[in-house]
Amino acid sequence: MKLKLNEFTKNTRKLVLFRGIHYYQQGRQKLDKQSDKTYYYDVAGQENNYKVVVNLGDENMIVFSSCDCPYSAAGFCKHQVASFIDIMHQQGTLDIETLENAEVMEEKTPEQPVPEGWSHADFQRLKNFDVSGYLATFSRDELIFIMLNYMQIDMKLFMYIFHHYMVEEARSKIRNVN
Ligand SMILES: [Zn+2]
Repeated sequence: MKLKLNEFTKNTRKLVLFRGIHYYQQGRQKLDKQSDKTYYYDVAGQENNYKVVVNLGDENMIVFSSCDCPYSAAGFCKHQVASFIDIMHQQGTLDIETLENAEVMEEKTPEQPVPEGWSHADFQRLKNFDVSGYLATFSRDELIFIMLNYMQIDMKLFMYIFHHYMVEEARSKIRNVN
């Protein structure tokens, strides 16, 4: 779903929207750095701090947005919401009342999509599988190989790693690779 910044509510659950507004009002979001139209926020959650990355494109389109919190239900999380609102404030387009009444995501959106061929029950059981133990049996090179292959398939994963884990200098190097 391609959305402009001021339409982010369409991909946000109502409850999450209100929690995000509350977070914003409490000032839990701190802009850590900004590089062109990419914003890096630290957001104070209940127990942990989370990193949010928002990348805007032409006409304020949300090109990429992610948070490293464990929220897994549909739509943006409250940390992203607080960050979006802060950017809107920065841009001088923030109107909390309009935001509170904006169109939100339909509640009937499935909680968590299950991969094709999987039942919800099987997918839940997958969490009992010792992933880190299994990964530990791979060598570093094997892990890099798997990671690179997967990143080519899933652009979102690539963007996530790019924005959350790669340092600024490495990022500019990658930008100059042809
Ligand atoms: Zn989050």
